[in-house]
Amino acid sequence: MLNIQMIRDNKEKLQSVAEQKGIYVSIEELLVWDDKKRKLLQQIELLRQQRNKLSHAFGLIVKSKPAFDKTEAEHLKADVQQINSRLALLESELAEAEQPLQQLMMLVPNLVSADTPTGSSDADNVLLRTVGERPQFDFELKDHITLGALHDIIDIPRGVKTAGTRNYYLKGAGVLLHRAVQQLALDLLTAQGFTLLEVPLLVRSAALVHTGFFPLGESQTYHIVDEDKWLVGTSEVPLVSYYGNEIVDVSEPIKLAAVSTCFRNEIGSAGKDVQGLYRVHQFAKVEQVVICEASLERSEQLLQEITRNAEQLLSLLELPYQVMAVCTGDMSQKTYKQYDIETWMPSRQAYGETHSSSSLLDFQARRSHIRYRDAQGKLAFCHTLNNTAVASPRILIPLLENHQQEDGSIRLPAALWPYMNGLQRLVPS
Ligand code: AMP
Repeated sequence: MLNIQMIRDNKEKLQSVAEQKGIYVSIEELLVWDDKKRKLLQQIELLRQQRNKLSHAFGLIVKSKPAFDKTEAEHLKADVQQINSRLALLESELAEAEQPLQQLMMLVPNLVSADTPTGSSDADNVLLRTVGERPQFDFELKDHITLGALHDIIDIPRGVKTAGTRNYYLKGAGVLLHRAVQQLALDLLTAQGFTLLEVPLLVRSAALVHTGFFPLGESQTYHIVDEDKWLVGTSEVPLVSYYGNEIVDVSEPIKLAAVSTCFRNEIGSAGKDVQGLYRVHQFAKVEQVVICEASLERSEQLLQEITRNAEQLLSLLELPYQVMAVCTGDMSQKTYKQYDIETWMPSRQAYGETHSSSSLLDFQARRSHIRYRDAQGKLAFCHTLNNTAVASPRILIPLLENHQQEDGSIRLPAALWPYMNGLQRLVPS
């Protein structure tokens, strides 16, 4: 959520960003409601002052008992009653104006950084760097579904039998691998000063509103109707909410990480990525969240840092990847600046998104009411950032496919050996 003055000062820019981000909101309409609200507030304030004056005068008359002027007192009383009924009317008009105003405020997007590319979809994202060599195969390449079945570590048919489309089982070394990448990511983040949290996954809608996922993302989220709670699609929600409504110390940035199951109904992705492990309803993600002072320089520096953490993990997994500057049309409402990291997936003959690194400035902290005291002791809203450290099983696609050998075995990068009981290679049984 943005500050109303900021919306007034940037109305044309924000309308254009909303259009680029595909959000239907009229900033003009919002400002009309805000004007109405301001006028009503002024009228209410004026009437309250008049009422105070009248009440004071009434008090003086009552005090001057012997000379008590009954007629004058009756007049004053009638005037106060008139003001009260006018006030009641204006207050109900104010409440009526607040509702559409708040609804529209919830739809206003964050501004985007000056270096964000303008575009309408991921096709307009801009390549920043490519890292690592793509492997050359002089044998017939197997995709992760075939490799998973060959090694008996991924079972998609049984996942679908039990839970429907976009579900899977991992088995044996598949489970070890899934957990190994997560533990490697957690160890890496711990060494970088992140605090680990185990977080609630079934949350109140307020947590999703405050972190900027609702109202726009409501249809993409699983609702547990009986409890009126929602299954999170990312631990960013409980991690940011941890400090909701608090005043925090950000003399050093707060760095939080969690590994959690993520649930996504993928309603907007019908027919897209239906094969294999790329787009599933339930996956595990190690997430980085950073909360810092409201400084553009600090946010930028931390965005680079959390992006580097993900790149370091991919280097440890010996996977080729590229970093993309995400364009306006591929960004969510809350994002100010975003990089996506895409890892080479041989079976797709393409780089596929594995990480998403975002800077939100104070958009999320305003909604979540997370504040700090600045150098002058004044309360200010923090900045927040987030990035994937690793998401599995999607990462198993490049891991299995890039490291496959002609005999069907899979070479494991050395960084994973300690987490795989020393196993250095997967061999088909
Ligand atoms: P996001 O939180 O949407 O930015 O996604 C972060 C990462 O989670 C993506 O880059 C993917 O690696 C992974 N991911 C997101 N959605 C899915 C999904 N439906 N199935 C598997 N992995 C996903």
